[in-house]
This record gives sequence, structure tokens and C-alpha cells, in this order.
Amino acid sequence: MHVKSNAIEQARITLEGAWDGRLPVCPERISVQTTIVLHRNGQESEHRVLMKGWSDEDLNGDSGFAEFRDQDAGQPFWCVYNIHERPDRQRFTQAHEFGHVVLGHVIDGNKPKRDSNFNAKGDLDEIAANTFAAELLMPEDLVRDFSKRITDLNALAMKFRVSPSAMKTRLKALRII
Ligand SMILES: [Zn+2]
Repeated sequence: MHVKSNAIEQARITLEGAWDGRLPVCPERISVQTTIVLHRNGQESEHRVLMKGWSDEDLNGDSGFAEFRDQDAGQPFWCVYNIHERPDRQRFTQAHEFGHVVLGHVIDGNKPKRDSNFNAKGDLDEIAANTFAAELLMPEDLVRDFSKRITDLNALAMKFRVSPSAMKTRLKALRII
């Protein structure tokens, strides 16, 4: 599926440009090292994503959102995650929302991408953001390499600081299990 292959490629390009190769991958640190180019009114400008942790209350129970906020011209790309969810869930949310920005879903005039769960239900942007997040947090080469040495699912998930269910989904997608 083109949507998925594009998201994987974008995640790999992002890792190449911003990752020091160490596990676990930190989406927040990657976002600081990544430049997002905004094209508007025939002009180009470069921005960093603004990644913020909000309370469950402020997010009305959602896991997070990615939004173009025009009032802050310096940092119009916002990624917000719920600091009251489990740490592995927060990291997935960060990677997913960051994916929405990198993949060009966060555009002036678009509705914010709000995420209460990560069940894409056929929504192509959500499928793409989930695919991006999986590749970012669990880079294929490293998953293949470590899965040969670490056969316990929980230990492997811990190595990448993801949930065991996210790791299981990843191993299945890569046809390792
Ligand atoms: Zn989303």
C-alpha cells in the first residue's frame, strides 16, 4: 500500500537525519533535530515542531493531537501528548503526532488531528501516522537484529520502550512471528 510505504520511507529519512542510533528512540529529541518546511503564499519557511505534554484533563481524555496553530508564527506545528498515560503510550503518541506533521497532514486550514485511540479504522492519514510511529520507534533493521538475540516478547518490548502489544504487532508486520 502506497500510504504505508511512503510513511516508512519518511520515518527512515527522519531517523537518518536526526537519530544518534541509540535505543530507545526518543521522538521528542528527534523532533528537535528535524526541520519542517512550510510552503505558504509562495514562500518557504523552516520550523521545529513544538512538542508538549498536557494533562488528561486538558486533553479531555484524548491521547494527543497534532495541529497547525497560526497564532504562533514561529512554531505553527504543535504535537501534544497526554502525560497521564503510560510512558510507552506517551512515546507512541509523540511519534504518531510527529508523523502527522512530517507526512504533511498538519496544514493551515486543516482540522486538528485528534487521537483518542490509535485504531485507524481505514482512515489513510491515521494508517500512515501509525506506520510512521512504528518505524520510528522500532526501526526494521534493529528489530530484526535484536529479535534474533532476545526471544522474550516483554524483554524485546522493553529494549525499544514500547508496549508488548505494539512489539507483537511489529513482529507480525515484519513476518518475524
Ligand atoms: Zn492520528
